[in-house]
Amino acid sequence: MINVTKTFLPPAEEYNEYLKKIWETHWVTNQGPLCEELELKLKKYLGVKNLLLVSNGTIALQLAIKALDLKGEIITTPYSYVATVNSIIWENCTPVFCDIEDKTFCMDAEKIEKLITDKTSAIMPTHVYGFPCDVNRIKDIADKNSLKIIYDGAQSFGVKVNDTSVYNFGDISTISFHATKLFHTIEGGAVITDDDALAEKLFLYRAFGHMDDDYYSVGINARTSEFNAAMGLCNLHRVMGFIEERKRLNLLYKKFLKDLPLKFPEIPSDIFYNYSYFPVFFQTEEIMLEVKDLLFKNGINTRRYFYPSLNTLAFTYGESCPVSESAANNVLCLPIYNEMDSGLPEKISSLISQALNL
Ligand SMILES: *Cc1c(COP(=O)(O)O)cnc(C)c1O
Repeated sequence: MINVTKTFLPPAEEYNEYLKKIWETHWVTNQGPLCEELELKLKKYLGVKNLLLVSNGTIALQLAIKALDLKGEIITTPYSYVATVNSIIWENCTPVFCDIEDKTFCMDAEKIEKLITDKTSAIMPTHVYGFPCDVNRIKDIADKNSLKIIYDGAQSFGVKVNDTSVYNFGDISTISFHATKLFHTIEGGAVITDDDALAEKLFLYRAFGHMDDDYYSVGINARTSEFNAAMGLCNLHRVMGFIEERKRLNLLYKKFLKDLPLKFPEIPSDIFYNYSYFPVFFQTEEIMLEVKDLLFKNGINTRRYFYPSLNTLAFTYGESCPVSESAANNVLCLPIYNEMDSGLPEKISSLISQALNL
């Protein structure tokens, strides 16, 4: 079975070199030398001021909400992985959904202001598929209304806007380094902020709120291990190669799919993009399901990323978000990953054409 993604694994010998170091030092977790090295290299690679490794991208969001002391309502996107809204509810805040725009599928900044009430404390959008949100407009709105911004940047590793990392916007940005993401540490994530005081708070929250015998605040265990950091060190120097390879696959898909009745997101021309996903949007859900079924019968497992629209979940409520609901119903993500057979885009495209009876 061909899956929508396949985790990249570095040559075993390269990982083994790091294992040897772990065996020598006997330091396996608690912010050891490999975690320190990866944090430094990530900061440099991304060009960000403060970055803390954490155990996954979901706890990164929860730490961000806690560190900003958010209460009440958080305006968020209905078009994201469920972890975005889960973290808001888990931290006892109320998600208020702002519909998306239909070119990049990110939060529609024009629709934010009418959702602001006296209970609103923050805006929490996702750079979905790695497409940057309208960061400048969102900053203006947040400044004008004294709101905080957390960006869920789980999918936007390596993406740049105005020649700077997309993680340099907002009060806090979070990343996921899960095995399905462009850059991974098997499980893992990070929180990023410009604000040194916030970084200090996040540092304490990550590990029980204390340093040695000095106890400063409450905290949780959001640490990552040396084994995870080792995987990250093996993968980090390959990221540009990953992006180039995926760009080639993306262009192949577009070449073979271009005359079919389906839609792709528009990659904004003024950004550096990471090609982390290949979503296509069909005219109806029924057609999408027929395509999904035929591909599955031919050994190709696609995924409905991102379905359902999060405002339709049983544990959320609010106004309808028609753009998000329609996108979520009709979308299918096609396989795109490193070391993918370069004949696959053509094969998958001809199966889609067959399913559409063309
Ligand atoms: C993957 C993902 C997460 C969750 O990250 P984990 O590391 O799996 O906890 C959160 N938000 C978005 C948008 C994601 O894609």
